[in-house]
Amino acid sequence: MKSDTLYERSRELMPGGVNSPVRAFKSVGRNPLFIDHAKGSKIYDVDGNEYIDYVCSWGPMILGHGDDRVVGAVQKACENGLSFGAPTEKEAILAERIRQCVPSMERIRLVNSGTEAVMSAIRVARGYTGRDKIVKFRGCYHGHSDGLLVKAGSGVLTQSVPDSAGVPFDYTKNTLVAEYNDSDSVSKLFEENKGEIACVIVEPVAANMGVVLPEEGFLKFLREITRDNKALLIFDEVITGFRLALGGAQEYYGIVPDLSTFGKIVGGGLPLAVYGGRKDIMPVGTVYQAGTLSGNPIATTAGIETLTILAEEKERGLYETLEEKGKLLADHARKVFGDSVWVNQTGSLLSIFFTSKPVHDYASAVASDTKKYAEYFNAMLERGIYLAPSQFEAMFVSAAHSDDDLKATIDAMSLS
Ligand SMILES: *Cc1c(COP(=O)(O)O)cnc(C)c1O
Repeated sequence: MKSDTLYERSRELMPGGVNSPVRAFKSVGRNPLFIDHAKGSKIYDVDGNEYIDYVCSWGPMILGHGDDRVVGAVQKACENGLSFGAPTEKEAILAERIRQCVPSMERIRLVNSGTEAVMSAIRVARGYTGRDKIVKFRGCYHGHSDGLLVKAGSGVLTQSVPDSAGVPFDYTKNTLVAEYNDSDSVSKLFEENKGEIACVIVEPVAANMGVVLPEEGFLKFLREITRDNKALLIFDEVITGFRLALGGAQEYYGIVPDLSTFGKIVGGGLPLAVYGGRKDIMPVGTVYQAGTLSGNPIATTAGIETLTILAEEKERGLYETLEEKGKLLADHARKVFGDSVWVNQTGSLLSIFFTSKPVHDYASAVASDTKKYAEYFNAMLERGIYLAPSQFEAMFVSAAHSDDDLKATIDAMSLS
């Protein structure tokens, strides 16, 4: 198999043979597939196999792979040069599009990855409040910067390494960890650290311990307790942004955070992410952030085109359709697997947890039987369905998944 040969070759140079750990397929007990190309809902490996893809590059490809308009715009932009390190109109256009979609984004900075966006937003929150401590939730992932690699879900979670080696305690001692969906755990931290907490950062729908939905009132509670304590609320919408709704989870749940981060979809498949929010917080001021390729003309082109298409398709019911597709898959999984699974789904995000008990936080998520997930994953792969190679990642449904794709997926599940 060409994939196996390439894997051996890559392992000679790249630790684990990959540039992002989950790609190594460790937790499903097989070698990764090396991808040759992808189009629409389908992904093709170097051995010529075709799969219906529910990884979608971990979120960015909400329009499906290789969307003609996005690719065409990028090709055209390339002819004008790849990067100038100087301002362009593209940056202004993208920032305007983002604010049109997400009104809380009054001031915006473009960066290259979700990791950078979150790191910068937290720096802004600390600079603005003059406080050092931050609150995050067990199982939420906010990129791989030092201070946030604490109980960080998915990649870290799968390897059963609670934290990363190489992160000094001094970098994480100001990161306080609360339990997702547990308001008391947040109140307790605020009581114990009065006047010291700069911000609470949360994935409004957690999608890095598998998909875990916020319980009724949880996000509203976070909005209130941060306001009462003069701390900021940061929504990490790197996954949920432009996915749950054009305005992200903040539109979907009607909660307005002070700062937000976006990534994945907003770059349309190229490296681009965003942080921003209230204009009285975001002059950035003495808080430093920079980037050689930040807001480069190619990534901004892909972002502009993607958001433009999403806004057009929204008028044609895109988000309702995505919700129906997600629900169809979730309902079917519940029917096929019965009590042996717990399925969480919202919009085009879903997870099938191999546990019979409700999954509402980190502890209930990690109670899942990862061996059973691996069996399911491998069985589905045999049948031409490419799922996330980890129990603790979301299944992403895109606009390109057709009724036939969904039917094929459901048929494959039924054989399990
Ligand atoms: C993917 C992700 C990040 C990190 O983004 P990168 O572009 O991989 O650095 C941050 N937060 C959330 C919620 C994510 O899903």
